[in-house]
Amino acid sequence: MLPRQLRANVKWGIVLLNAFPKKIRIFDTTLRDGEQTPGVSLTPENKLRIAKSLDELGVDVIEAGFPAVSKGEMEATKLIAKEGLRAEICSFVRGVEKDIDMALKCDAQSVHLVIPTSDLHLEYKLKKTREDILKLVEESVQYAKDHGLIVELSAEDATRSEFNFIKEFFAKGLSVGADRICPCDTVGILTPEKSYKFFSDMRKAFKDTIISAHCHDDFGMGVANSIAAFRAGANQVHATINGLGERAGNAALEEIAAALRLIYSVEVSIKTELLYRTSQLVARITGSPVQPNKAIVGENAFTHEAGIHTHAILAHPSTYEPISPEIVGVTRRLVAGKHSGSHGINASLEKIGLRPTDKQLKEISMRVKIVGDKGKKVTDADLMAVAEAVMGLPQTRPISLEELTVVTGDRVTSTASVRLKLNNKVVSEAATGLGPVDAAINAVRKAVLVVEPILLENYHVKAITGGTDAMVEVIVRLRKGDRTATAMGVREDIVMASVEAVLSGMNVLMTDYNKRGDKQTEKS
Ligand code: MN
Repeated sequence: MLPRQLRANVKWGIVLLNAFPKKIRIFDTTLRDGEQTPGVSLTPENKLRIAKSLDELGVDVIEAGFPAVSKGEMEATKLIAKEGLRAEICSFVRGVEKDIDMALKCDAQSVHLVIPTSDLHLEYKLKKTREDILKLVEESVQYAKDHGLIVELSAEDATRSEFNFIKEFFAKGLSVGADRICPCDTVGILTPEKSYKFFSDMRKAFKDTIISAHCHDDFGMGVANSIAAFRAGANQVHATINGLGERAGNAALEEIAAALRLIYSVEVSIKTELLYRTSQLVARITGSPVQPNKAIVGENAFTHEAGIHTHAILAHPSTYEPISPEIVGVTRRLVAGKHSGSHGINASLEKIGLRPTDKQLKEISMRVKIVGDKGKKVTDADLMAVAEAVMGLPQTRPISLEELTVVTGDRVTSTASVRLKLNNKVVSEAATGLGPVDAAINAVRKAVLVVEPILLENYHVKAITGGTDAMVEVIVRLRKGDRTATAMGVREDIVMASVEAVLSGMNVLMTDYNKRGDKQTEKS
C-alpha cells in the first residue's frame, strides 16, 4: 500500500493496475546514450560521481560507457565497475569481439550488445545481409556468455525493421543465452498507439524474457511511448536523467519514475525524493542545463507566481500541485511578480517576520506589479526592500562588504580575500576557486559560514548590453535549511555583481524581523 500522501496524489490519475507489470526495472543510460548528447563529454572522475548518485537514486542497471570509443571511456567504465556499487554495471558493445574484450577488461558485469536490424542500417551502415546479422548475433552473444557476462541484446532501429526479422534476431540471441532483449526506437518514431501494438507483439513472441523499451524523444513522445510499452508488457526501460541523449534525447528517467509511482502505482526501485538532487548534479557536471519548464525537475515545476494560484496553494497545496514537491525532493517556491496576489506576497514576507498592514500590503503588491510590468524579475531581496520602504523600516542588513581583493591570472589559482561586517563583527576570510567569481563567492561563503551554513543553489549571469564594458546581471538562488532566497546584482564588474547578488540573498536569509524586534505597525 502506498503512503497516504502518495495515495492522495494518485486519486486524480488513471490507475491501470492490471495492465502493467508489477515492477519495472530501470536501466539508466545517462552515462552512455546521455553522454552522446551533442557537446557533452565527461571525465572518468565525473562519470564516477554521477554513477554514485545514480546508484544512490536506486537504478537497477548503470550503463557506464562505451569503452571501445576512447581511453577515457575505458578508464571511466573500469573506475565505476571497481567502485562496488549496488547496481549492475553494464558496458556498451557492438557485435565485435574486440568490444566485448574491452568490457571484460573493465570488469563490467554485463554488456549492452547492440546490433542493427533495419534494412536501412544494414545496407548503408554495415553493408551486411540479414543472414550475416543472424550469424553475428549468434557469435557475439555466445562469445559474451562464454566469458561470463550478462547479455542485454538490443536491436538497433528495431521500430523501422521488419518484425519477423526482429523475432528471428532475438530468438537467435536467446537460443545462445541472451538474458534480456531490447528492440530500440532509435530515432523516436513510435507513437503511444504504435508502441502498445509493437510491444504487445514482442510480448506475445517472447513470453518470459525481460523486454526493455528504449525510446527517443524526437517527437517529444519518449516517455509516453515507454509507458505504452509497459502497458503492453515491457518490464524494463532505458532512460536518462533530464532526458539527455542523442538529438532530442532519450526518455527522461525522472518523468518515468514519477509517473509509474504516482499515476500508475507500479513499483520502481527509484527513491523519488532524490530525483531533483540527481538532476541538478547531472546538469552541473554535464554543463547541460535543465529547461525551466521541464516536468518534475525544472526550476518552475513547483514555483508559483499567479495570485489566484498562490492563494489556493496556501490554502491547500493540491489545488495546483499534482505532485507534492517533497516526493521528488523539491521545495515549493512562491515568487513575486506582476501576476502575484497579496496572499503570496504576504506569505513570502512572513518568512522573514514582516507583517504589513492590509493597506501596506496593497501598496507593496502594487509596487511589485509595477516592476513586473517593466518586464523585470522581482527577487526575494527586491521584495524585502520594497516592503521595508513601504513599512518605513530602516534597511539594516546583517552582512555588509568592507573589502574584497581578487587575484587571478594565467598561471595562478584565483584567490580572493574578503572582509565583511557580520552582525556588527568584522570577519576576514580567504579562499581559492576556479576563476575569480568562484574564489570571491567561496571567500564570502567561508566568512558567513561562521554564523550560518548557506548554499549557493543557482547562479545565472547575463550581459545586458554588448561590449566588454557591458553591464552584467547576476541572479542567484541561495538556500538555508528549507528556505530559499533569490537576489540580483548588476554591475560592470562580473565579480562585484556576483558578490553583490550573493550578499543580498544572504541578507534575506539572515533577516528575521521576529528576532529583531523592530516596531511594526499593528495589523489593522
Ligand atoms: Mn539510443
